Amino acid sequence: MKAIRRFSVRPVLPEPLRPLQELAFNLRWSWHPETRELLRSVAPDSWQAAREDPVRLLGTVSADRLAALAADRGFLRRLGVAIGDLRDYLTEPRWYQQADARAGGELPRCVAYFSPEFGITAALPQYSGGLGILAGDHLKAASDLGAPLIGVGLLYRHGYFRQSLSPDGWQQEHYPVIDPHELPLTPLTEPDGTPARVTLDLPVGRTLTARIWQVAVGRVPLLLLDSTVAENGPAERDVTDRLYGGGGEHRLLQEMLLGIGGMRAVRTYCRVTGHAEPEVCHMNEGHAGFLGPERIRELGEAGTGFDAALWSVRAGTVFTTHTPVPAGIDRFPEELVARHFGEGGELAGLGTEALLRLGRETTADGEPQFNMAVLGLRTAQRANGVSALHGNVSRGMFAGLWPGFDAEEAPIGAVTNGVHAPTWTADAMLRARTEALGDAELWELRRTLREQLVHEVRARLRASWRQRGAGQAELGWVDDVLDPDVLTIGFARRVPSYKRLTLMLRDRERLTSLLLHPERPVQIVVAGKAHPADDGGKRLIQDLVRFADDPAIRHRIVFLPDYGMAMARSLYAGCDVWLNNPLRPLEACGTSGMKAALNGCLNLSVRDGWWDEWFDPDFGWEIPTADGLAAAEPDRRDAIEAAALYTLLNEQVTPCFYDRGVNRGGLPIRWLEMVRATLDRLGPRVLADRMLREYVTGFYAPAAAAHRAMTPEAAGELAAYADRVRQEWPRVSVDHVEPGAESPTLGGTVSLRVRVSLGDLDPAAVEVQAVTGRVDGDDTLADSVYVQLKPEGGADLAGRWTFSGELSLHRPGPFGYTVRILPSHRLLAHRAELGLVALPGEEDTEAHGTLLR
Ligand SMILES: *Cc1c(COP(=O)(O)O)cnc(C)c1O
Repeated sequence: MKAIRRFSVRPVLPEPLRPLQELAFNLRWSWHPETRELLRSVAPDSWQAAREDPVRLLGTVSADRLAALAADRGFLRRLGVAIGDLRDYLTEPRWYQQADARAGGELPRCVAYFSPEFGITAALPQYSGGLGILAGDHLKAASDLGAPLIGVGLLYRHGYFRQSLSPDGWQQEHYPVIDPHELPLTPLTEPDGTPARVTLDLPVGRTLTARIWQVAVGRVPLLLLDSTVAENGPAERDVTDRLYGGGGEHRLLQEMLLGIGGMRAVRTYCRVTGHAEPEVCHMNEGHAGFLGPERIRELGEAGTGFDAALWSVRAGTVFTTHTPVPAGIDRFPEELVARHFGEGGELAGLGTEALLRLGRETTADGEPQFNMAVLGLRTAQRANGVSALHGNVSRGMFAGLWPGFDAEEAPIGAVTNGVHAPTWTADAMLRARTEALGDAELWELRRTLREQLVHEVRARLRASWRQRGAGQAELGWVDDVLDPDVLTIGFARRVPSYKRLTLMLRDRERLTSLLLHPERPVQIVVAGKAHPADDGGKRLIQDLVRFADDPAIRHRIVFLPDYGMAMARSLYAGCDVWLNNPLRPLEACGTSGMKAALNGCLNLSVRDGWWDEWFDPDFGWEIPTADGLAAAEPDRRDAIEAAALYTLLNEQVTPCFYDRGVNRGGLPIRWLEMVRATLDRLGPRVLADRMLREYVTGFYAPAAAAHRAMTPEAAGELAAYADRVRQEWPRVSVDHVEPGAESPTLGGTVSLRVRVSLGDLDPAAVEVQAVTGRVDGDDTLADSVYVQLKPEGGADLAGRWTFSGELSLHRPGPFGYTVRILPSHRLLAHRAELGLVALPGEEDTEAHGTLLR
């Protein structure tokens, strides 16, 4: 029989054990080994069965056991220490408070961080991959540093799917129901004790209501919206059914709930708790883009017009783009958006056309679409990609939004992602203080981690084969799968085609000979989920599984189903080499290799994402790429890059690992040198702490300052300025450029006088700029330097103004310059911000040339 309804009976803890509740409900246990150990010790035998989830564990402990613990003075003492430590952690001043004092109290009082998914611990399965894990690491680092973030997301009833395999290796998806009462969640309540709610208006009289759950991520509250409430109709109840569920309207409603509902949830949270209101909103990808229009609505109700409100919202918004793949961005038909934001729908007061214009992207076929990344860029004054290379690629990808500017000038910066060390470093590694270890001890530690992985792989593989229908008796061979002394390579990630899960299978014979090499074998652990709608990805998994099923090699290569945070942790720690072979430059950053590095695992990767920035032969190997071939010949490209991978493995990686001299204690000295370099020099760079500090100083602090400066009057002034400049711009031109007579010599200067027309604009409303730099054969400027020219006297009779200045010649060789006019206003953050620029006309360029030799 099946139950028609389920509920959970929460345990009532004896008084002396009450602090256990607080420890279990604050997810800091997930990155604090001492707390985790204490919680485990409540019922060590049930810890695995409770899937290492303290809330679940406490829900299953017997009353007898609780009574025994309540009388156990040793346990109570340890409990007292743990809870005292947590309370100190939650209240003591940390890095942010010191940085704020140094900055004269100028750092933001609160930053709201929006993300469609959060990967904090396997016990809260609300993530699908890198984006969510990054968001989780962002919150944890914020907590550790004392940064006043509030996280905002959705609570998905089925989370992301659990993966298993059919007997013939085809991915199976399961969507277990999540019961919020069994998770570390507490409802946000109004002062009168009723559950807090947010409501959105939907077309034709429907409404979408959601309740608000709170998760304590150390010091950071995370608010999760859940549409499974009685007030909703069946369709609305399903809005938060699963991560990235469906397309079209379902996805749009999820994103409306995240952006609009999320903003309202933050307001509610601040109202009922007295927390400072956010001065900055940060969008982790475009899914939360509707928070911008929602804040425009709020300001509108306070009397601010649309344009001024947009400037105000932009000042306090940060947008992070995560994909260099245009197909990876959410887009909606304009008609669908118009229907939900028109008459009777949400934000109707803004005007449908004004809203559509914020996200409008005209595609190649001329059909306008509503693009969530474009919405993010238009509503955020500050934007970034997630590695230096990805910043570059993003500037090119979105350059069309700032016509007239070179792609490199597009106002999109970069903050390279980082990972949260206490989460991703193996406990043994954290404890070891590796800098104090000798070579033999370090090697032994690495072996221990590898051996733990081997045991975990066997257990998971056995479970998978049982699941695929094998009987226990047929599975004796699993005990011999992997060898704790063989070079272990890990490859685990989602399975979109650009990540090329099966590149290693390109030449099966070569791979097999690497696996079965008599002296220098390798073993490979593979894992990853394909998107449920991606049959191509599932076929790749099946290819890999079938290859790994072969009895001749199945002891050296395995595919483990259900890649997630729990598996990831032991995988990163136990592997010797982390393999990454995406199609460059489609991996925006990639973070799994960073987590591996924290454990002394070396990277073997295409120079994409973060590895392009920080590659060093002491940290691993670069797989050479054939990006020149690009789109035209994907097959040849794969062949070339796979061949390079085999060669590297055969000629460099394995010889290095197996190079053990007797007179060196049987240790691979060069390998250990690389492990140390990775731990000591790469480790500190890949940290989420470093990333968060960069966001605070480079983005949050300036955004908060801009937002404070953008009073309603200032925003009104800027809106009026932008309006006038746009109107006058057709009459703005560079009319004449007159170089000085001096001959250019190194260390000297060239003087420049420029005559410009400004329409009715004042010289102070623009910047006239000389752009100088190296030039190549077709006169394209590179490494440009920008020199502001100064106005001289008044306008001439024709209404033209003269500007002048001097260019320094620091470099020998071909050198060029051009002149341009840009809008200039103290509240603009970037010279390309208005997308307006006037360059010398063709004729002028011809007459004067831009080349000096
Ligand atoms: C880190 C991590 C990812 C992201 O890894 P990439 O290298 O960015 O592909 C995905 N899933 C899990 C479980 C992770 O821990």
